[in-house]
Amino acid sequence: MDCIFCKIARGEIPAKTVLEDEHLIAFDDIAPLAPVHTLVIPKKHIANMGDADDEDRELLGRLMLAARDVARKKGVDESGFRLIANTRSDGGQEVYHLHVHVIGGRPLGRMLLGR
Ligand code: AMP
Repeated sequence: MDCIFCKIARGEIPAKTVLEDEHLIAFDDIAPLAPVHTLVIPKKHIANMGDADDEDRELLGRLMLAARDVARKKGVDESGFRLIANTRSDGGQEVYHLHVHVIGGRPLGRMLLGR
């Protein structure tokens, strides 16, 4: 599949891997918005949360726990962090392979800038 995150998951495009198992991979964002900015993706291609199926329940749980593990590994679990899953057009999604942003390392303010 011609999807940039699928290629990262297959090791065809280099990335700064933070953690990986058979179901998912976490790697640093190429354009970080904060001192910690890591993406957690399932290796299975799911375009976004709008396309997730009930049968993906376990995988989505794994994704959340991996985000927790990233926060721990990056040392922001105590100071705090934000998880973001941009979804489709109004959600500002650019890459159509489900990913959870793990962002932290500085105060992030409250919620959305675009209001
Ligand atoms: P989104 O708007 O949620 O779809 O965000 C996509 C994110 O993927 C952006 O923060 C990009 O900086 C990031 N990104 C795009 N290509 C790469 C790449 N090759 N390696 C790491 N991060 C990437």
